[in-house]
Amino acid sequence: MVTNQPDVARGTADASDVKAINLLIAETLQLDGVLLCAHDDSDKCFCRKPAPGMLMEASTRWGIDLQRSVMVGDRWRDVEAGRRAGAYTVFIDHGYNEPRPTTQDLTVSCLLDAVPWILVRLSPNGQDTLS
Ligand SMILES: [Zn+2]
Repeated sequence: MVTNQPDVARGTADASDVKAINLLIAETLQLDGVLLCAHDDSDKCFCRKPAPGMLMEASTRWGIDLQRSVMVGDRWRDVEAGRRAGAYTVFIDHGYNEPRPTTQDLTVSCLLDAVPWILVRLSPNGQDTLS
């Protein structure tokens, strides 16, 4: 999981609380790990999505082939970070009142709806069998 947590930089969330929440998510979902950006846009870091820094770091750390990966998110920043990293992208549209992405490969209303598409896309011949 890669997550923007600008509330830390903005002083509206405590870094240790954010870390504890993400650790609980990682344990509950049995994730390999969580990469977190605690910066804000003004920091101009390489990790805050839409920058692809956390995806590049995950690729290095866990040996992930980004061109055979799917970035799933519910914000335009997630989709753009995935695109910049060279991954397929899925946008989960929760109807947030904010700019919507336009470059995603798939739009769904919940993660479950994306699972068949992801499984085909990541199968050995997925690129040949999808229309
Ligand atoms: Zn950052």
